[in-house]
Amino acid sequence: MKYLDEYRDARIARSLAARIRSRVTRPWVLMEICGGQTHTIMRYGLEELLPPQVELVHGPGCPVCVTPLEIIDRAIEIASHPGVIFVSYGDMLRVPGSRSDLFRVKAAGGDVRVAYSPMDAVKIARDNPARPVVFFGIGFETTAPANAMAVWQAEREGLANFSMLVSQVLVPPAIRLLLGSPTNRVQGFIAPGHVCSVMGFREYEELSRDFQVPIVVGGFEPVDLLEAVAMLVEQLEQGRASTENQYVRSVTRDGNQPAQKLIETVFEVAGRQWRGIGEIPASGYKLRGKYAAFDAERVFHTSGIRVEEPPECISALVLQGLKKPVDCPAFGAACTPERPLGASMVSSEGACAAYYSYRRHTASGVPV
Ligand code: SF4
Repeated sequence: MKYLDEYRDARIARSLAARIRSRVTRPWVLMEICGGQTHTIMRYGLEELLPPQVELVHGPGCPVCVTPLEIIDRAIEIASHPGVIFVSYGDMLRVPGSRSDLFRVKAAGGDVRVAYSPMDAVKIARDNPARPVVFFGIGFETTAPANAMAVWQAEREGLANFSMLVSQVLVPPAIRLLLGSPTNRVQGFIAPGHVCSVMGFREYEELSRDFQVPIVVGGFEPVDLLEAVAMLVEQLEQGRASTENQYVRSVTRDGNQPAQKLIETVFEVAGRQWRGIGEIPASGYKLRGKYAAFDAERVFHTSGIRVEEPPECISALVLQGLKKPVDCPAFGAACTPERPLGASMVSSEGACAAYYSYRRHTASGVPV
């Protein structure tokens, strides 16, 4: 299959690994941002192909994982309201809040529905004018255009029964936070290709310049990721720090400008909470004043809900690349994908879940 088989070709992967080995002369710590990239690295065992000097750490780019616990609790509260139709992407249903999850709300008689697009929720609102319909609009820049389109369309049609619980976050402010931390160990980043296909990579060029850090926009297949690592190692070994694009088949420097315009029409940048990390200034979107009537938090008065993360969870350190999942005493014991305690175990794209599914390492590094 074009654009798939060649990016999973073992021969090309081995030659890229040889290229990395031939260039590297000292230790480097690299972070892939996106949970999909982490998943591929674990699934294909890419770390085993790399020389010992190259360490991969796993960033905060799993949207399900970084959705704050209190937003999940707000979703559960809204979905439990009598008469509400709560519509969500399927992977949010099993994410535990502090006391329950959306599956349990559904099992108890709540009208919780799975959709593949927020426009499905708009249609449900159109078809059910007497009932409030709420879409759970989570994600990075990748989901923002479709979420913006749904709100824009609802406003255009005057669908007063439609609203959105918004938890949109942005990647560059999270990278900026990591790079500004005195404990940062990351020397090069693989930026998320799908986010950059929407937003382009000018903001990453600013990060490279401001922090003198190499960034490579990378895809999601094994060959993409090995090539991105090779490009990062070459920059680091040559003392260069710029943003380069490995994912040229999908990403341009300016991204998808009509999508960006739509996002800007409906959303404005705001501070956001990140599960496992906390508040990051200007790191997400909220609905603009013109669309405030479509804000589910206002409609249902839920913003007072506040909850704490379990104290034993070290996912804040995992998401910043300071610890590996296997360093957590709860990993694979008190915390598993079936019974997740923290952010990085709640989705298959989370680093802890990816380690659990594909590596099953113990804390000693020995596979079980
Ligand atoms: S294994 Fe579970 S408890 Fe430990 S850091 Fe990962 S998500 Fe948190």
